[in-house]
Amino acid sequence: MTSRLEPGEFELIARYFHGMVRRDDVELGVGDDGALLTPPADTRLVQVVDTLVADGHFPADAAAHAVGHRALAVNLSDLAAMAAEPAWALLALTVPARDEAWLAEFAHGFQELAARYGVALVGGDTTRGPLTVTLQLSGFAEEPLRRSGAWPGDRVWVSGDLGAAAGGLRAWQAGWRDGDAHELIRRFLYPEPRCDLGAALAGVASAAIDISDGLVADAGHVAERSGAGLSLVSAQLPRAGALMRRLGDEDALELALRGGDDYELLFTAPPTHDADVEAAASRAGVAVTAIGDVTAGSGVRVDDQPAQGGYDHFGDGRP
Ligand SMILES: [Mg+2]
Repeated sequence: MTSRLEPGEFELIARYFHGMVRRDDVELGVGDDGALLTPPADTRLVQVVDTLVADGHFPADAAAHAVGHRALAVNLSDLAAMAAEPAWALLALTVPARDEAWLAEFAHGFQELAARYGVALVGGDTTRGPLTVTLQLSGFAEEPLRRSGAWPGDRVWVSGDLGAAAGGLRAWQAGWRDGDAHELIRRFLYPEPRCDLGAALAGVASAAIDISDGLVADAGHVAERSGAGLSLVSAQLPRAGALMRRLGDEDALELALRGGDDYELLFTAPPTHDADVEAAASRAGVAVTAIGDVTAGSGVRVDDQPAQGGYDHFGDGRP
C-alpha cells in the first residue's frame, strides 16, 4: 500500500521499530520535539553522521533489511574507529512513497543490529523524495582514538579481511549467484562494524580509522593526519577465500587495496604493544593482521612503491 507521506510522520514510522532498545539515559525519545539525553559523567560525546543514497551507496534494489542494517553499521563503524561505545541514533528517512512492507523490513534490519549494540533510536524525520537514509549516531569515549596518532616505528594492523565487499558488489552487478559469490554479496550487503575491537584498542592503538573508501585511501588519511608515511606489504593483506577463488589473486589484491565498504579497522600501535593488540583482538573475537609499518615521510607505499587510493564503485564520483 502506498499513500502520501507527510513530513513529521516519523512517529508513525517509529512504530515499525518493534522492540526498540530502551536506555536509562534517554529521558525523552521519539515523540516530542527533541530528545532529552543524559551522557555519563567523565566521558566525551562522540558524534558521527552518514548519508546513504540509493544507487550511490547501495543498490536501489537491495533488500530493505540490508539497507536498515547498513545505515546503522556504517555509523557504528565510525564510532568503533574512535573507540566509542554507541548509544543514541537519530534517523532522517527520505522515501519515494510510503511502502509498509519496505519500512517494516528496513526497521527490522536496523533493529537487529541496534539491539546487539544497545543503540536507542531517539528521534527522526521523514520526507518524501528519492530513497536516502541519513543516520546520526552518538557514543561515549573515555579514551578516543584518532587518525592523527601514528608514529614512525609503529606497526600497521588491519582487522578481518579486505576486498570482500567490493567483490560482493561486483558479483551483485554481474549477476553471479554461486556459493562464493553469495558469500561476497553477503559481505557487501551486511558489513560488520568492529565496535568491540575499537573499544578494546583504547589505550593500546596509537591511531585508527575504519576502512570505508579502501585500504590505500584510508591509510592515506592516517598518514596525512599523523604527518607520517604508511608502508604496506601486499603479501600480508588478509583476503577472504571466497574472494581469491572467485576473482583470482590479481583482482583480489586490487580489491583488497582499493575496494571500499569493508568497514574493517586500520590501526597503528608501537611494537611494544603487540601482545596487547593480540589480547584486544582475542577479547573482541576478531582476527587482526600486521600489514606494514609507519615510517618517516608522507603518503602510502605498497611494496615500497607510492600508492594512490580511490575506487569509485558506482561511477557517481562519490568521495
Ligand atoms: Mg570513517
